Amino acid sequence: MMNLVIFGAPGSGKGTQSDRLIDEFGLFHISTGELLRNHIAQDTELGRLADSYISKGHLIPDDLMIKILEDVLDSNPYRARRGVIFDGFPRTIAQAEALEKMLEARGAGIDAVVGLEVPEEELTQRLIKRGQREGRSDDTPETIKERLNVYHSTTHPLREFYTGKGKYSSVDGTGTIESIYSDIKKALSHLNLQPNEHSIDPLINS
Ligand code: AMP
Repeated sequence: MMNLVIFGAPGSGKGTQSDRLIDEFGLFHISTGELLRNHIAQDTELGRLADSYISKGHLIPDDLMIKILEDVLDSNPYRARRGVIFDGFPRTIAQAEALEKMLEARGAGIDAVVGLEVPEEELTQRLIKRGQREGRSDDTPETIKERLNVYHSTTHPLREFYTGKGKYSSVDGTGTIESIYSDIKKALSHLNLQPNEHSIDPLINS
């Protein structure tokens, strides 16, 4: 099981680059933001609760978020077995510690954390454009500002947390999608990731 965290501020390109890694290496993508947006779209109880935080640019409380993540791992054992890309989780030190415990209990751990570094001004521009393009309720100027504040105060300390464990690799998140992806692969070269080429559906059959 090869577990990667793709880390960075809102708008740093985590989702885009995760998609590439999944295509090439067949890892299981867990995007907590996407998962919560699906609940909001289906108007579930969790979706309504999540929306009350997301629309303000706030984080979902740790207890709830950790429980959601554990449920995803528990209900997808075969897909998670090959390895997971955690996209948007962890966002707090408490979540990172909980993730470590969850993976440890499954005989695994975090193998690497790739941090996409993008200047603040570019993040804001990207998020405003995405808001216009996709109509995401949290990509409005006020919410963007709050999300970036939350990122700096609460999420950014994880950079130190994972650097201290020797797991953090910083990647320049500006430039073309291709060049960023190529830098990510260089940052992960020590892991000897295997391309996903062996079977029709390795996630289910492995
Ligand atoms: P994202 O798509 O990753 O930018 O997430 C969108 C929003 O979902 C965030 O601004 C948070 O409100 C919420 N969210 C996603 N992941 C987490 C998490 N790990 N902890 C708390 N809130 C989260």
